[in-house]
This record gives sequence, C-alpha cells and structure tokens, in this order.
Amino acid sequence: MFPQRLTDGYQSFLNGRLPSELSRYQALAERGQRPEVLIIGCSDSRVSPEVIFDAGPGEMFVVRNVASLVPPCEIDAATSSYHGTSAAIEFAVSGLNVKHIVVLGHASCGGIRAFHDNAEPLSKMDFIGKWMSQIKPVADRLKMQPDAGDRDTDIKRLELAVIEHSLANLLTFPSIRSRFAAGQLDLHGAYFGVATGMLFVRDPATREFHPFAEATPKD
Ligand SMILES: [Zn+2]
Repeated sequence: MFPQRLTDGYQSFLNGRLPSELSRYQALAERGQRPEVLIIGCSDSRVSPEVIFDAGPGEMFVVRNVASLVPPCEIDAATSSYHGTSAAIEFAVSGLNVKHIVVLGHASCGGIRAFHDNAEPLSKMDFIGKWMSQIKPVADRLKMQPDAGDRDTDIKRLELAVIEHSLANLLTFPSIRSRFAAGQLDLHGAYFGVATGMLFVRDPATREFHPFAEATPKD
C-alpha cells in the first residue's frame, strides 16, 4: 500500500499548491527548466532545500547525498564508474548554465558524525563507509582525534570544513573552474542549524560562516 503520509500529502498538494502553481508547471513543461541555482545538500530528512528556501517548481536544481559531498572530478573514472553527484553537477552547469552553486551542510549530520565516531558499518557492503572516507584528508588536516577534545565542537568543525572541501572539489571540474574564473558562476557555502532553523552563510573572503543577517524570523 502506498504510504498514507504520501497520500495525504499529495491530496494537500492537489488542493493547495497545485491550483496556484499550475500555470507555472505548464510553462515549465513547455519551455523546460531554467533554474539559476544548484544546491548540493544532504539527504537528511530535516534539511530539505526547497523547504528552507521556500522554492517553487523550477527554481532550484537539487542534488542530495550523504553529507552534501562533492567528490573530485575524476575524468578517467567517468567511463568506468557511476558518478551520480558528478553527473548532476555536470548537467546543472553545462546543461542548465546555473549561475550559483550552494553547498548546503548542516548541524547534526549523521554521515559526518559516523565518520567522526568511527562507527561500525551498517552492512557488509558499507557504501557509507567508502563514501565518507573521502573526508579523511579533511579530518586529518584538522588533526582530529575521535577520543580527544569536545565531541560536539569537533563535529561542527568537521561539518564546516567538509563544506570547504566540497567547494574546493567543485573547482576540480573544468566547466566550473572556467565559468567561475570568468565571473559567470558563483560558489557559496551555507550551514543549516537543524535545531534553530538558523542559516549560516560562508564569507568567501574569510571562509568563516556567519548567521544570515539579511533575514530574521518574524513573530
Ligand atoms: Zn547530513
């Protein structure tokens, strides 16, 4: 049986959003999508980019994976492996000509916490372990030792450093590097505080994350 939660949600969509957005859907179907923003976010159910940024249909091209990671561009592997995230990035940049890429990390990221805590594999396949092993150089640079220091502070440092790592990896894609150098494409980092709903945005000059000051919650 189809999940009741989805049945109810779709009914709500039919009654609410669809009538007000139907003409937009029709136009998008005829003309195709032209989103200006690519969001690379985490699969975490609490960090939905469309919800956080109040996006309508056609506004954001979104790729989500465990921990919002951008792997490096591996040209040789392109014909021998399956690179879902790289394929989505390639399509957004070279196919859709997005103007912005946002790497959206978040607090309480299970993938990063599992890496930090050196958690046991969830299954024999251990896809997560292999996927998360790409942040080992980041943790090494932070000189992070799982059994030393304050765990929560260390995990937050790692979460922010992983966003930086993904931003650097974006520039290993030739199509991104050339557009970025020509001023045709901007790269951004952001961090969502799950418990508070606060968004922190990376200052490209200092690489520090600051609370997003241009918007405040209303009472
Ligand atoms: Zn996460």
